[in-house]
Amino acid sequence: MPSTAPRKARHHASRQPPRIGLVSLGCPKALVDSERIVSRLRAEGYELVGSYDEADLVLVNTCGFLDSARAESLDAIGEALAANGRVIVTGCMGVEADLIRDRHPEVLAITGPHQYEQVIAAVHAHLPPAHDPKLDLVPPEGLRLTPRHYAYLKISEGCNHACSFCIIPKLRGPLCSRPAREVLYEAERLVRAGVKELLIISQDTGAYGVDLRHAPSRFRDREVRAHIVDLARALGEFGVWVRLHYVYPYPHVDDLVPLMNEGAILPYLDIPFQHASPTVLRAMRRPARQDRMLERIRRWRDICPEIAIRSTFVVGFPGETERDFELLLEWLEEAELDRVGCFAYEDVAGAAANHLPGHLPEEVKEERRARLMAVQEGISRRRLARRVGQDMAVLIDEVTSDGAFGRTYADAPEIDGRVFVEDGEHLKPGEIVWVEITGSDAHDLVGELAEE
Ligand code: SF4
Repeated sequence: MPSTAPRKARHHASRQPPRIGLVSLGCPKALVDSERIVSRLRAEGYELVGSYDEADLVLVNTCGFLDSARAESLDAIGEALAANGRVIVTGCMGVEADLIRDRHPEVLAITGPHQYEQVIAAVHAHLPPAHDPKLDLVPPEGLRLTPRHYAYLKISEGCNHACSFCIIPKLRGPLCSRPAREVLYEAERLVRAGVKELLIISQDTGAYGVDLRHAPSRFRDREVRAHIVDLARALGEFGVWVRLHYVYPYPHVDDLVPLMNEGAILPYLDIPFQHASPTVLRAMRRPARQDRMLERIRRWRDICPEIAIRSTFVVGFPGETERDFELLLEWLEEAELDRVGCFAYEDVAGAAANHLPGHLPEEVKEERRARLMAVQEGISRRRLARRVGQDMAVLIDEVTSDGAFGRTYADAPEIDGRVFVEDGEHLKPGEIVWVEITGSDAHDLVGELAEE
C-alpha cells in the first residue's frame, strides 16, 4: 500500500460506503484469514480500497511466527499508523497485544488469529457499517485476494505436534478440522466462480480430520470421510488442479501418491522435512528416521514418476554440528527434491528451542543456508533441464506484451518457479495451454506454445 499523509474517517460526512484498507502479511494461511474477514466486511457494505489515502481505517493482518516476521509486522503497523492513523491489528501477532501497544499505543484494537467475530466487532466499533440495502453483496464464493483463477482453501486450523522451534500450536491451538462437506461446498463455489486451481492449506494437511475421528459428512448424494485421502479424491472430481501444501510425513501420505498418478490431484507434494540429521530432528521433536524417508521418496517416484516434491529446511538449529549439516547436504543430493526453501534458525518468542544449548553464531547459520541453497540450485538446475523438449500443461497467471507467465503442475504460485511462454501475449490468465519447453535455468522454464 502506498503511504500518504495521515487521515481520519470521513465516510459519515458523505454517502460513500465505509472504506477499509488491508495489509496482509505472512503465509498463505494468513491470506485465507484476510480473505474471510474481507468477504464478511464486503457483505456488510464496506468497500476494500488499495491505498492508505482512500481508506477510512486500515486492518493489518500480522504474522508472529519468526522474530523477523514480528519485526516486519510492527513496522507495517507503524507505517499504516503514519500514513492513515486509524489501524486495527489482527492475526498471529495479535496474541502479543502488550508488545504491540508498547510500540504503537495508538492502535484502535488488537485481535488474535481467527478471531473473525472480534475483528468484525472492532471494525464495527470504529467504523460502523453503512445501512444501504443497495450496496453490492459479496459474491457467494467469497471475496478472494488471490487472482481469480486460483484460490487457497483452508481445511483445518491448528496443530497437534510440538516441534520445538514452533509456536503455532500455542498461537492457533490444537488441530481443528472443517467437516468434509464444508470444504467441498466451498470448493464447489470456487470452481463455479471460475477457479482453475485449488491450493489446499492448513498447518498440518496430512492430519486432516483426526480431531473429527474422520467422521463422514454428507456432500450432495454421498458421505465423504474427513480424511485427507478421501477429501483429496473428492476434490479431484471437480476437474480443476488440486495442490496439497504442508503435508507432514505421516505413513498414510503414501496413499495420496496413487491418486496423483491417476491424475485426480496434482502430482505435487509440499512436505516440510526440516532436516535430515537424526540428532537435529530429535532436538526439533520431529520424526528422526530420514533414511527411511529416502526409501519412501524412491517408492513415491516408482508409483508416480512425475511427482514434484517441495520441502523446507531449517539450518543452524541449536546444537547442529558441521557433520549434522553435511548429512543434510548428502541427504539432499540423494533425495533430489524439486523445490527447496531454507531458513536460518531464529529464536521465536515462546518456543522450546530457545532454551536448547549450542546456539550458533549468525554467520555460521547464514553460511550454512547459503551452502544449502547453492547445492539445491545445482539439483534444481539438473531437474529442470530434463524438462527441455517436453510438452507441459501450463496454467497462465500473467500476460504481458512480450509473452505470458504461467506454471506447470510442479510449481505453486508465489513460492516456486514459473514458465515464460514466449509467444503467449494473446493468452488470458486462467487459461491452461500446452507448452513445449525450450529452455531452463535453476528456477524457471521457457517455452513456446506447442502445436495442437
Ligand atoms: S507440525 Fe508444523 S505447525 Fe505443527 S508444531 Fe510442527 S512446525 Fe509447527
